[in-house]
Formats: sequence, C-alpha cells, structure tokens
Amino acid sequence: MTAAIIDGKVFAAGIRARVAEHVTRLRQEHGITPGLAVVLGGEDPASQVYVRNKGRMTVEAGMQSFEHRLSTETSEADLLTLVQRLNADPAVHGILVQLPLPGHMNADLVINAIDPAKDVDGFHISNVGRLGTGQKAMVPCTPLGCLMLLRDRLGSLSGLDAVVIGRSNIVGKPMAQLLLGDSCTVTLAHSRTRDLPQVVRRADIVVAAVGRPGMVTGDWLKPGATVIDVGINRIETAPGETRLVGDCDFDSCAEVAGAITPVPGGVGPMTIACLLANTVTACCRAKGIPEPEGLTA
Ligand code: NAP
Repeated sequence: MTAAIIDGKVFAAGIRARVAEHVTRLRQEHGITPGLAVVLGGEDPASQVYVRNKGRMTVEAGMQSFEHRLSTETSEADLLTLVQRLNADPAVHGILVQLPLPGHMNADLVINAIDPAKDVDGFHISNVGRLGTGQKAMVPCTPLGCLMLLRDRLGSLSGLDAVVIGRSNIVGKPMAQLLLGDSCTVTLAHSRTRDLPQVVRRADIVVAAVGRPGMVTGDWLKPGATVIDVGINRIETAPGETRLVGDCDFDSCAEVAGAITPVPGGVGPMTIACLLANTVTACCRAKGIPEPEGLTA
C-alpha cells in the first residue's frame, strides 16, 4: 500500500474540540449556550442511531440538545407547527429534521419551512442557492467535512481536477459547488456518465458518493490522486456476518492513490462534527458575533 490514510476520526475529534472551545467562549463572554434541535419523524433504525449520537455529541460539546421524536402517525401539519415553534425559539440556533421522513410527508416542504438561518443541514432552498452563487450559506455537513479533509491534506485546491461521482442534493451537488468555490475544475459524474473510469483517471481529487460497494477500483485512478470515499455500504462477508465498506475498493485504490479515507473512520465521523460546527456558526451569525474561523467553507 502506498497511500496515506486520511484519519477522519482523529480530524473530527479535533473539530469537536474546537467547537467545544468556542461554546465555552460564547458562554463566558456572551452568556449564550448554542442549542441544536433534532427532529426525528419516523422509526428508521439507522436514523434513530444517528439522532442518539448527535444528541450525545451535542451535549459533550457543551451545547444544549433538544430532541423531538414524533410517532409515525404524526401529521405533516403537526411537524410544520413544531418547525415554526423551533424557528421562534431563541434557545434553538440550529434545527435538523432527520431524513427520511415518513412517506406521507413532503420533505421539501418541511425542510423549506425551517428558518434558513437555523438550517444547519444546509438543505433549505435558500442555502442551496446561496452556496451555488458563492454567498455565505449554511453548508451541508457531509460535503463540508470532505472539503475540510481535502484542504487539510492538500492545502490550496486551486486549479486541481476534481471528479465527484454522484449527484445527490445531500452530497454530490453541494460537494461540486464547494470544490468549484475552491477553484477546482469540477466534473460531476453520475449513472449516465460515459466511460466513468476514463473520467475518473484524470482527477487529482476523487469524491465517491454513490452507494455501490467497491465500485471505484485502483485502475480507475491517476497515481497520487486524493480519494474521499463517502459511501457507506453494509455487505455480507459470511452468512450472518456483515461489515461496512465504501464506494471505493480500498485495497486496490490504496495501491495507486496518494491519500485515501477509510470506511469506516473517514468521512463518516466528519458529518456530526460539521453539524456541531454549523450550529456554532449559526449561533454566532444570529447574535452578530464574529464566527469561528475554519469551521465552515
Ligand atoms: P443517492 O441519493 O442514492 O445518490 C447516488 C448517486 O450515485 C446518484 O447521483 C446516482 O446517479 C449515482 N450513481 C448510482 N450508480 C452509479 C454508477 N454506476 N455510476 C455512477 N454514478 C452512479 O446517494 P447519497 O445520499 O448521495 O449517498 C451516497 C453514498 O454516501 C451512500 O453510500 C450513503 O450511505 C453515503 N453517505 C454517507 C454519509 C456520511 O456521513 N459519510 C452521508 C450521506 C451519504 P443518478 O443521479 O444518475 O441516479
């Protein structure tokens, strides 16, 4: 193996420690405790684990955590009323509605009901537009985490060729916008892209956010490329045994890449760390306090 391993777990712990320092300062100097409200609309088991972890890490960072668990029968109107209440609550600086929502709810409607200034997931159409036009925005957590890892590894990204595989609103599209914002030459690839291996082969930076285990193999990569693997896929290794793997075939990619994120322990831990960072950023912006440097795009 030649590639350096990009340790997202260690990096994320550093972000959380910096968030905690800012939280202490906000309390001591301004008497403010940032608050994050997380709304869980359904009974998706993975979402329940995420929400539990988010709540725990919010408290560990010294912030207030407000959890709202709704039953699957909760109506869309009741959820919208809750969002309005959180929008108006001065103790709440960040609001996250955990997706997916139950099928009878219109996720776009609910997300766009969140006050954009409290939209710590960065999914509100106003934040999407702001990011796309280079204005100050709340930036989606997973791509923000990828950007932080890339900047840490490579310094300036200016002029580098970046290929993002996957064009979801949650990861691929905002990732492409962020890389463009850092002056990369960006290709946004997807399931209809022709000759994907050839497209990937020219990239200095590859971000894979597809949801297909081990799709990107070492022979797709330009030697020395930096590979950010967003994929989280559970595969069966033996009857009754499973493990998590990414969208990149780690062993063959690590032979060719200059640096690569592992799965687990790469991008995954960055997502919650960036959520906490976004909450502090949102709190500072709301209060007109200079926001911490290096915790957003
Ligand atoms: P998604 O909404 O399902 O989007 C997948 C994207 O991959 C689509 O744009 C799709 O193209 C593209 N795609 C599918 N098959 C392809 C192929 N054969 N070649 C090229 N592109 C292909 O997924 P997502 O929400 O972005 O998530 C992607 C992965 O990241 C998943 O494994 C997810 O679990 C993981 N994830 C991780 C985190 C984290 O915290 N680390 C956060 C979010 C997601 P089309 O648009 O053409 O269909």
